[in-house]
Amino acid sequence: MRGTMMDFPLTLVPMLERAGKLFGGVEVVSQRPDRSIARCTYADVYRRTRRLARALELAGIGRGDRVATLMWNHAAHLECYFGIPVAGGVMHTLNLRLHPNDLAFTANHARDRFLIVDDVLLPVYESFRAQVNFERVFVAPFGGAAIPREFEHYEDFLSAADDEFEYPELEENEAAVVCFTSGTTGKAKGVVYSHRALVLHSLAECIDGTFGISHGDVILACSSMFHANGWGLPYTAAMMGAKLILPGPHLDAEGLLDLIEREGVTLAAGVPTLWIGVLQALENNPGRWKIARPLRIVSGGAAVPEALFRGLDRFGIRVRQIWGMTETAPMASMGTIKSTLAGCSEDQEYKIRAKQGIPAPFVEMRVMCPEGEAPWDDKTFGELEVRGPWVAASYLDAPETGDRWSKDGWFRTGDVATIDPEGYVRIVDRSKDMIKSGGEWISSVDLENALMGHPAVSEAAVIGVPHPKWQERPLAVVVAKKGAEVKAEDLLLFLADKFAKWQLPDAFIFASEIPRTSVGKFLKTKLREEYANWEWK
Ligand code: AMP
Repeated sequence: MRGTMMDFPLTLVPMLERAGKLFGGVEVVSQRPDRSIARCTYADVYRRTRRLARALELAGIGRGDRVATLMWNHAAHLECYFGIPVAGGVMHTLNLRLHPNDLAFTANHARDRFLIVDDVLLPVYESFRAQVNFERVFVAPFGGAAIPREFEHYEDFLSAADDEFEYPELEENEAAVVCFTSGTTGKAKGVVYSHRALVLHSLAECIDGTFGISHGDVILACSSMFHANGWGLPYTAAMMGAKLILPGPHLDAEGLLDLIEREGVTLAAGVPTLWIGVLQALENNPGRWKIARPLRIVSGGAAVPEALFRGLDRFGIRVRQIWGMTETAPMASMGTIKSTLAGCSEDQEYKIRAKQGIPAPFVEMRVMCPEGEAPWDDKTFGELEVRGPWVAASYLDAPETGDRWSKDGWFRTGDVATIDPEGYVRIVDRSKDMIKSGGEWISSVDLENALMGHPAVSEAAVIGVPHPKWQERPLAVVVAKKGAEVKAEDLLLFLADKFAKWQLPDAFIFASEIPRTSVGKFLKTKLREEYANWEWK
C-alpha cells in the first residue's frame, strides 16, 4: 500500500515558521566585537528573515543560486541561515579563517553571486577581492563602524523589501547550504546539504544522548557558523525555540564563562580546546563564576581527552563527546552511556565517555580493513566508513573525488577507528596522523589524550617525524599550564604504565602554543613541516 500518508516535504520553512509563531518571545543574544550585547527575539529574527528572503527574491536570486556569507556567530547570520534557503537560494558559509586563495577558490567554485559580509570582516574580503567577482556585496553592521560608500548596506537591502514574501514550493532534496571542508591538505571540497538533511539532523540533535536539545535550553553556540552549519545548532535552537547565545568573535575562556553565568546557559558546544581553557579558568579562579543552572557541554571536532571529562565533572559540568565531519552535517555519533552499561565502574565509565560514541539514529558506521569489515572487538582497526540521511553523497563539482565513496555507497571518512562489542566507535587517529614506527602503528591521539591527563600539561600534540632506522618516531609538542613546570622525564614516567616502551615519544618540545586549524583543532601539518628535519639523537 502506498500513498497512505502525506508527502510533506522536510524543509527549513516549517522550522522558521515554528520559531516565529510559537517562540516569538524567546531571546537570541549576540555578542558584538566590543563585547557589548545585542538582544532580539525569534519574532524579530522571523520578521527580518522573511524580509531578507523577499529582498533576495526581488534582487533576482533564483532556485539554487548561491549567496555567500562571511560572518561571525550573531543574529544577522541566523537570518541568512534561514532567509537564503527559504528563498530557494543556497547559503555558502565562507570560512573566514581560510587563506585568501582558498577563500577565492571556494567562492568561485561555488559560483557565489552575492556576498553578505560583516563590517568587521571587510579586511578579510579585501584579501581575496581581486580574485572574485560577486554581483553584489552587502555589509552587515555588526561592529558598528561606518560602512564604506562603495558597498551596499545590509539594513538598506532589508528595508527596501516589503513583507509580501511567499515561500516558493521547495522540495526536500533541494540544496539549502554549501560548506567547504577545512582542507588542511589539498583543495577544500564543497559539501552541499539538502533541506531534508538539515531537518533530520536537527531532529536528531533533540535526542537525549546527542545534544538532547529541548525548549528550555539556553544554548551557547561556540561552533563557528562559518563551518559545518555551526554544528546545526542555529537550526535546532530555532526549531525548538531554545534561547540562543551567539558569542560573536570572542571564544576566550573567561568571556565564555561570563556569558554562561550571565545568560544562564544550560548547553554549550564547541571544540575541546575551548573547554580545556574553560577548565583552567575555573581552576585558577575558584568561586569567580556562579553557574546556577546545570550545564552540559557537547564537544567534538577533535578527540576529547579523558582528563577533560574528569576535570569538568569536578565542577559539576557534564561533557559529552560527539564525532562528526563537514561531510556528515556534522553530527554522526553520540557519546551516550547505554543503560545496560550503567553499573560499570567509574574508571570504565570514563573510558566509554572518552570514545566517540555509538552512531546516531539512522547513521550507520563500519570499520573496513584489508580483509573486509572489521569485527567489533575493540582491537581491529581500519578506516571508518559511514552512511545515513545526512551524509554527503558527493562533493560539489569534484568528480575526481569519487573514490571517497565505496562501491556500495558508504563514505570513507579517512579516520582510523575500532568498534567495541557494545558498538562504541573509538577514533584511533586521522589516517594521515597515524605514526608508523618499525612497521607498527602508534596512535597520536592516544598519546595526546594521556599527556593532557598530566596535571601540569595544558595541551599536547604528537606527530610522527621521519627517522632513519624506524621510519617514523613520535615527537610530542607540549604546552604547560600557566605557572607549572614540567620536564620530559616527568612525562615519560607518567606515560610509562599506559603505553609500551616503543610507543613513547622520543622527543618532547615545550612550546607556548600549538598551531591551530581554521576551526581550532591542532594543525599537525604545520608541526610536521616544522619538525620535518628534526635530528634524532
Ligand atoms: P571537519 O570536517 O573539519 O569537521 O573535521 C572532521 C574530522 O575531525 C573527523 O574526520 C575527525 O578526524 C575529527 N573529529 C571530529 N570529531 C572528533 C572526535 N570526537 N574525536 C576525534 N576526532 C574527531
